[in-house]
Amino acid sequence: MIREVIIWPDPILSAKCEEVPVVDDAVRALLHDMEETMLACRGAGLAAPQVGFKLRLVTVLVRSETGAQVLKLVNPRIVKREEAPQLMKEGCLSLPGYYEQVRRNRHVTVESLDETGAKVEIGAEGLLAHALQHEIDHLDGITLTDHLSVIKRNLARAKFVKAKKKGMRWQAEKPEPKDFTDPTTKERPSRVPELLEQLAGPPKGP
Ligand SMILES: [Zn+2]
Repeated sequence: MIREVIIWPDPILSAKCEEVPVVDDAVRALLHDMEETMLACRGAGLAAPQVGFKLRLVTVLVRSETGAQVLKLVNPRIVKREEAPQLMKEGCLSLPGYYEQVRRNRHVTVESLDETGAKVEIGAEGLLAHALQHEIDHLDGITLTDHLSVIKRNLARAKFVKAKKKGMRWQAEKPEPKDFTDPTTKERPSRVPELLEQLAGPPKGP
């Protein structure tokens, strides 16, 4: 189910998210919704607080010449960073139409659980390293605007406060009504295979 993406600024986007104690069907259903929402919004990553859940869950799109796949991570954490900085233009589904250069580490190692509850370790560099740092930041209440100068951040805040007053929403196709309590997919057919299909091709920025 495609969920509504919360636009920054919003208190949930500044909150520290909680560890997920058990990877059960409700968690898998929410991860599936996040995957579907991210793909429908043409995003490269999504964190649970962006769809209203204060939980340490992220989805990240990985694109290669051979196709696209989505990493679904539970309680991910960065266990190693290579200090080499990398500047890259970033966007965020909670900041529609907004892009800024952000400096992050070029290489990171992430430890996480996958959607089956198994431990995984991901060594990432370049675009994927950037995306993982961006999404894991969200779990600690940090958005890309927190990486900008105070002046830029305040300008962005004013812009989005105004846009939200005018009713700005993500233009995902037909978001479902807000439902932050019941992460179940019900009988709706998944749109993930079709959305992934459309993404085959060379990688592009977040
Ligand atoms: Zn984001």
